[in-house]
Amino acid sequence: MSVIEFRSVCKTYDRRRVIDDLSLKIEAKERVVLFGPSGCGKSTVLHLIAGFIVPDKGDILINGELVATAKKNIREAGQRGVGMVFQDLALWPHMTVAENVEFGLKAKRVPEKQCKQRVKEIIDLVGLSDYLNASPGELSGGQQQRVALARTLVVAPAIVLMDEPLSTLDEALNVQLRHEILRLYNELNFTLVYVTHNRDEAESLGTRTIYLRQGRIDSALGIVGRVHFEY
Ligand code: ADP
Ligand code: MG
Repeated sequence: MSVIEFRSVCKTYDRRRVIDDLSLKIEAKERVVLFGPSGCGKSTVLHLIAGFIVPDKGDILINGELVATAKKNIREAGQRGVGMVFQDLALWPHMTVAENVEFGLKAKRVPEKQCKQRVKEIIDLVGLSDYLNASPGELSGGQQQRVALARTLVVAPAIVLMDEPLSTLDEALNVQLRHEILRLYNELNFTLVYVTHNRDEAESLGTRTIYLRQGRIDSALGIVGRVHFEY
C-alpha cells in the first residue's frame, strides 16, 4: 500500500488546468523530489496532499484511505499526519524558539510535561539547544530554517512536505541544510516530498525525482528512480 496516491487528480484555477490528470504513488520512507519550472504545479501538489485545497476531479489517498475526492476533503488538513515546511518560514516573531516549536503540540493538547520534553528533544536534534529562549529575529537564516524544521517535525508527522525550503539560502548554507534534512530523515523516518527547482538539491536529497511540466508528469523525463535509498 502506498503512503500517498493520486488517482487522475485535476485542479483548475480560473478555468486553467494547473494539475492535469495526475496519477502517482509514493511509498513509505521514500524521498521524492518534485522538480520542474516555476508555475508547473509543484506547490499545488503539496497543498493537495496537505488538504489545504481540494481537487476538482480524482482521488487522493493516504495510507490507502481516501482523504479527498472531487471537490471534497474527507480528512481535513491537520488530520492527515502531514507536516509542511514552507519557503517563507512563517515563524512567529513575537514568540521564542521554544514557543514556536511548542505551538503544534499545544494545538494537539499534548500534556505540558510531555510537550516540554518533546520540544527539548527536537531542538537538540536540530542543534539549537542554546537558543531555546531566543526570538527568531536574533537568529541567522540557517538557524531560522532549523526552527522551521523543528516546528514541523515536533509532532512526528509520518509525511513531511517541504516547499523550496532552502531556496533563499546561499550555496554553502544550502548544502549544509541538505545534510541536516537527511540526518533528520534518518533519525525520524518520515516519508519526504520535497519541492525544488534546484537540480543539485534534487540530486542530493531525492531517492526519486518526479519531473512535472504543466501539471503533468513530464513524458520525456518522467520519473527517475535511484537504485539505493541511502545518501
Ligand atoms: P509551482 O509551485 O510549480 O511554481 P504552483 O503550484 O504554485 O506552481 O502554481 C501552478 C499554477 O497555478 C501557476 O500558474 C499559478 O499561478 C497558479 N495558481 C496557484 N495557486 C493559485 C491560486 N490560489 N489562484 C489562482 N491561480 C493559482
Ligand atoms: Mg511553488
